[in-house]
Amino acid sequence: MALHRFVPLAAICALALSASLASPAQAHQQRAAEPYCVTHKCIALTFDDGPAEYTNDLLKVLKKYKAKATFFLIGNRVKKHPKLTKNIATGGHELGNHTWDHKYLTDLEYKAIYDEVKKTQDIIKKTTGKTPVLFRAPGGLTNEGVRTITAKFKLLQIPGTVSTQDYIKDYRDVEFLTGRALDIADQDEVMLMHETVKQTVESLPAVLEDLTSQGYSFVTVSKLLEGQELIPGEIYPEQLPLSGD
Ligand SMILES: [Zn+2]
Repeated sequence: MALHRFVPLAAICALALSASLASPAQAHQQRAAEPYCVTHKCIALTFDDGPAEYTNDLLKVLKKYKAKATFFLIGNRVKKHPKLTKNIATGGHELGNHTWDHKYLTDLEYKAIYDEVKKTQDIIKKTTGKTPVLFRAPGGLTNEGVRTITAKFKLLQIPGTVSTQDYIKDYRDVEFLTGRALDIADQDEVMLMHETVKQTVESLPAVLEDLTSQGYSFVTVSKLLEGQELIPGEIYPEQLPLSGD
């Protein structure tokens, strides 16, 4: 998919103006400020519904391949598994809000949606010291109320752009899920998977091995979006929402 990266006009002008004046050191700093994924073949792997039984196994595989990922966590599971939550954070991965108990938000009243989001922000902050800036609605189901509330919490909505569909029971086969992940992987995609699915975690070494050989950098969603103008409450990357679980 093609991603449009927004570089503010003022920044372009400043760069053009400074090109003739900058010392080599300054020029280097300006190059370094360019968003990483403009110059690298990035992909953002995302894992939903944890922390869970296989979290530590997953973290080990990611570490081996120097991959950073994004974990969309369920608030009540964070409360139950503070150590696993901290392990994810200390591994350098990004933590996103996936509601308190994974209810479909489009079935809820405004106040109930607000509580789902707030309680999860609070428990992740309390557990890791970090406040999420990313939100994923269960099942990808969102509406105007979700948009308003996530905007209040300065959260971006991240439904994902491709999915292995590992929530489908018949797909839960390591070889099959490996093939699916490799089929749908592409530059700048946000891939949706579940850390609660054993076969997904088991498929990961082969997936990362193959994608590494294709030159991919595995980055967090926030790093993938760097350099774009981002408005809280809106859906990123810009696209039609992906349905899933
Ligand atoms: Zn989910």
